Amino acid sequence: MSERAPAPYGDPLHAPFWEAAARRQLALQRCQRCRTHQFFARPFCLRCDADALEWVPASGHGTIYSLTTVHRQVSPELPVPYVGALVELDEGPRLLTTIVGDAPARIGARVRVAWKERPNAPPLPVFEVVDRVP
Ligand code: ZN
Repeated sequence: MSERAPAPYGDPLHAPFWEAAARRQLALQRCQRCRTHQFFARPFCLRCDADALEWVPASGHGTIYSLTTVHRQVSPELPVPYVGALVELDEGPRLLTTIVGDAPARIGARVRVAWKERPNAPPLPVFEVVDRVP
C-alpha cells in the first residue's frame, strides 16, 4: 500500500494549502504585488497577473454567500441531508464547502472554519454558523 496521498493532495501547487490544513489552519494565496487573496491556488494572480504569490493564514471567518440542502447521496463521505454552501471568506475569496453543526444556515449568516477529519487525507475545511440571528 502506497504512503503517498492521493490526488489532489500531491499537487505541488496546492501542497501548502493541505500542509496548513493538516495543522487545522486555513491558508490562502496572496499576491505580493497587489495584496489580493485568491482561492483556489493558481500560478499567477487573477487580478494583476503577477506570479509573486505567497501563502498566508486566513482568519477562518466568513459569510454564507449561497447555499443548498442536498438530499441525494453522491458520496459515502457525505451522508444526506447536508448543506452545501459557497462561503465568502473575510479575505474575499469564495470557497465551496459544507455547513456543519446544529445552528440553522442561511444566506448572510456568519460562519467560521471547522475541520472534518478524514482517514488517509488531510482534514477538510467545513464551516459552522456562529450567529443565530434570523
Ligand atoms: Zn496581484
